[in-house]
Amino acid sequence: MVTRAAISVLAALSASVFAPAPAPAAGRADVAALQVALRSAGTYAGTVDGVRGPATVAGVRAVQRRARLAADGVAGPRTRRALGRLGRHLYGTRAISAGDVGWDVAALQFKLATHGFPSGPFDGALGPRGAAALRRFQAWAGLRADGVAGRATLRALRAAPPRSPVRLLRPVRGVIGGGFGPRGDRFHAGLDLPAPQGTPVTTAGFGRVVYSGYQAAGWGNFVVIGHRFGLRTLYAHLSSIHVATGERVGTGQRLGRVGSTGRSAGPHLHFEVLLRGASTDPRAALG
Ligand SMILES: [Zn+2]
Repeated sequence: MVTRAAISVLAALSASVFAPAPAPAAGRADVAALQVALRSAGTYAGTVDGVRGPATVAGVRAVQRRARLAADGVAGPRTRRALGRLGRHLYGTRAISAGDVGWDVAALQFKLATHGFPSGPFDGALGPRGAAALRRFQAWAGLRADGVAGRATLRALRAAPPRSPVRLLRPVRGVIGGGFGPRGDRFHAGLDLPAPQGTPVTTAGFGRVVYSGYQAAGWGNFVVIGHRFGLRTLYAHLSSIHVATGERVGTGQRLGRVGSTGRSAGPHLHFEVLLRGASTDPRAALG
């Protein structure tokens, strides 16, 4: 029989035994929220990746010293108070909507991004872009898209991030540069595949070209292909495009060539895999 006293003993035990939990491979939203608050406080310049590494702990200690707290590197209630409004509102303690600011908002931004709906910088403030991403996630998850992250939305965000239901072919030979995941205070929604200018880019699977065109401020020359099961692949920064919107394509068919058009620092393919609009990690589909 579990008594009230036993429960409080268990709670105390779990708090002390599990407090310095080892960082899992995928980042944790509460650690990401801490990193956002530390960045705002100027004590952390690293990536908002949700991994409690040495730089994060050092950032916590710097805040603690500044606030004349014991510099133990653990962000408890007093340390969170010292972090101001980005230290307030633990995740799950209120419904979040546009205009809200806080620890929970940063955690929500991180969760939305890892579930395929990134929206600009992780800053702990739910602006119009963040609210739009929230509504897109809600619609994606079959919830009412009201832009209010209440219980049902937070529950849906506990599910594992979506993955491609089909295997895809690598569209360019060579190494992977930047991966899918946090980058600085933002989220990189695709894979970067560096390759020499003019290297052929081939379709990751068969389907139909749903878009081929140019976007100066972002993707440059890019192609989007629609596949089965609501899956789409996107190929950006191309130097040339060899397919037209509406055209059917086979697997491994040449669709263009590697370039550096749009916002790009050098020749590479930016490749995204989207499932009904949610960005997924292309590495999971490429095997
Ligand atoms: Zn990229």
